[in-house]
Amino acid sequence: MKIMLLGAPGSGKGTQAQFICERYGIPQISTGDMLRAAVREGTELGRKAKAIMDAGELVPDDIILKLIAARISQPDCANGFLLDGFPRTIAQAEGLEKMEVQLDWVIEIDVPDEEIVKRLSGRRVHPASGRVYHLLYNPPKEDCKDDVTGEPLIQRDDDKEETVRKRLEVYHRQTAPLVDFYRQRSAEGKVKFATVPGIGTVEEIRDRIFQILE
Ligand code: ADP
Ligand code: ADP
Ligand code: ADP
Repeated sequence: MKIMLLGAPGSGKGTQAQFICERYGIPQISTGDMLRAAVREGTELGRKAKAIMDAGELVPDDIILKLIAARISQPDCANGFLLDGFPRTIAQAEGLEKMEVQLDWVIEIDVPDEEIVKRLSGRRVHPASGRVYHLLYNPPKEDCKDDVTGEPLIQRDDDKEETVRKRLEVYHRQTAPLVDFYRQRSAEGKVKFATVPGIGTVEEIRDRIFQILE
């Protein structure tokens, strides 16, 4: 199964990705997590990406496409994968098609902008695993610690309110056009496309997505 989750920053892609990947036994491919790992490791890519990410802008398409090409050719992707946060531009979607990747499903998670700001301001993450929490909506069992490892949770640099507004603007301008792009592909019978309302509890959204995928 090859699935892509499409949605604004904070729409719940990473949260839902974990459920889907567990259920279908496929790896989660998050370009955001890959870029943050490069930043932590201090690689050349990480140094280049950090300033762009902190400004809420998108990393150039050619860099992202190279990362994805290398990742999906690994053995654990042979039976499918879940794309979280990629593609984010029409050029990236076209680049993916050139790699001859046939997605089975594109699922859009639809959340209004007002809600996004609340979600991202309370988001806390466990950097090593990508596990995500929310101070109010999804608190960890122990204050500011990861449920699994007990390690500290952090707030991402780009989850500050000014950057969140910028990221939303970038989403509407550069990523939202993918909705029409994939609707068109769906009309041509090349992929299945569905929109899931993203307001509700984590479990409600999970069940909506599972119902569609079945
Ligand atoms: P969120 O989960 O909040 O949507 P991500 O972790 O997916 O955020 O992405 C964080 C940042 O990493 C983005 O704002 C962007 O700068 C960069 N990034 C991640 N994925 C891509 C991509 N596919 N293309 C360009 N930039 C990306
Ligand atoms: P379950 O398997 O019943 O979902 P878990 O112990 O895995 O139980 O999760 C407990 C609660 O934490 C869940 O009800 C869910 O709301 C939330 N949760 C689990 N994983 C995540 C995640 N990655 N992001 C956000 N919330 C999560
Ligand atoms: P994305 O990967 O799309 O950027 P995340 O999965 O990281 O989004 O979720 C953003 C924030 O919203 C996190 O703090 C997460 O715990 C929280 N969240 C996710 N799903 C829900 C939900 N259904 N209701 C409330 N908060 C949620």
